[in-house]
Amino acid sequence: MDTRVDLGDLPVDTSAPVLVTGATGYVAGWIVKGLLDAGATVHAAVRDPGNTDKVRHLLAAADASPGTLRLFASDLLQDGSYREAMQDCRTVIHTASPFIRTVRDPQRDLVDPAVHGTRNVLNTATEVASVERVVLTSSIAAMVGDAQDVQRLPGRIVTEETWNTTSSLTHEPYSYSKTLAEREAWTIAQAQDRWRLVTVNPGLVIGPSLNPDPTSESFAIARQMASGEARFGAPRIALAVVDVREVAYAHLAAAFLPEAKGRHLVVAETTDIVDLGRRLLPAYGATLGLPRRAVPKPLAVALAPVIKLPRAYVRRNIGFDLRSDTTKSRRALGVRYRPAQQSMEEMVGQLVASKTPKN
Ligand code: NAP
Repeated sequence: MDTRVDLGDLPVDTSAPVLVTGATGYVAGWIVKGLLDAGATVHAAVRDPGNTDKVRHLLAAADASPGTLRLFASDLLQDGSYREAMQDCRTVIHTASPFIRTVRDPQRDLVDPAVHGTRNVLNTATEVASVERVVLTSSIAAMVGDAQDVQRLPGRIVTEETWNTTSSLTHEPYSYSKTLAEREAWTIAQAQDRWRLVTVNPGLVIGPSLNPDPTSESFAIARQMASGEARFGAPRIALAVVDVREVAYAHLAAAFLPEAKGRHLVVAETTDIVDLGRRLLPAYGATLGLPRRAVPKPLAVALAPVIKLPRAYVRRNIGFDLRSDTTKSRRALGVRYRPAQQSMEEMVGQLVASKTPKN
C-alpha cells in the first residue's frame, strides 16, 4: 500500500506555514501528511486539539516526517476562530465541512457549517495579509445532484462548467450544502484581489484512511462490502470515484502550481457498487458477502431505506451513466489516477483488518 502522497516534482513551498482546516478529516489527513513529508509547517485547524483519538494519526505523521505540525482550535460556526491559525500562512486549504448523509436538520447540520464556515474562513483570508491562495475542497456534488443534471449537459458529460441545479434542503441536502458553499466561495474571492481561489471537486473519495476510526461518509460503501449487507444484490447507481491520495495530490498541486486556477473535477473512473463488489471477488470473494448482482429498479426503490439511501435518489439515478471529463485535472494539475479496484481493495482490507482480533 502507498503510504505516501506521490508529489513528483511539485514545487511545495516550505518557506511559510500552510493552514489546513478540518485536519482531522479523511481527505485532510492525507493532505497534511503530504505537506509534512515535503518538509512543510502545517497549521492544522481542528475542533478539539485535546481529542487525542482524532489527532493521534496526525502527530504520528509529523513524528515520522521532516515537517512540523501545529494544532489550533477552530470551529466553522465561530467567526474569527481561524485567524490565529492563518497567521503568516500564504496558503489556506479549506477542507472542513460535514460529509454525512443522515442528518436531522439539513440546514443546521449541513448547510450552516458548509456555507457559514466557508464565509468564516475566506473572510479571514481577506483580513490576513500573508494569504495568497485558498484551495477549497468542493465536490462533484456541487456539479451534479442527480442524473437530471447530467441529462441536460452537452454530450451528457460533467465538466468544470457544470453546476448542480437539482439539490435542495429536502432533496440531497449534502450536495446542496456543497453547491451553496462553493458559490459563496467564488463570490467572496471575486470581491477581493489579493488571494486566488482554486477548487478541487472530487468524486466519491475511496482508499485507505490514516485515521483508524474514520467518520467520512466515504466509508459507507466499504462498510457495506465488508459487512455482507449487500450480498443479495445492490442498486446500480453510477459512482464517480477517486483515490484519496490523488485527491490530496490535487489539493497540493492546486496550492503550489503557479498557474493553477478555477475548478478541477477529480475523478478516476465511474463504477457502481455491484461492479466494485465483482472486482473485489479475487481478493475477498471467499471471506466477504460482496454484492454480485444488480437489484431491479422497483425492488431497489422499495428497499432504499434499508441501504440508507433516499427513495427519490434511487428512483432518479438508477440506470443512468455518469461521464466525467477530467482533462483539466490531468493537464493542469498533473493528476495520475490509479484504478478504483486498488483503492477499494486497500480500503476494504483496512476495515477487515480493524475487525480481525489481534493475538
Ligand atoms: P470527514 O472525514 O468527516 O471530514 C470532515 C471534516 O470537517 C472533519 O475534520 C470535521 O471535524 C470537520 N468539521 C465538520 N464540522 C465542523 C465544524 N463545525 N467546525 C470545524 N470543523 C468541522 O469527511 P471527508 O470525506 O474527509 O470530507 C472532507 C471534505 O471533502 C469535505 O469538504 C467534503 O465535502 C469533501 N469531499 C469529500 C468527498 C468524499 O467522498 N469523502 C468527496 C468530495 C468532497 P471533526 O473531526 O471535529 O468532526
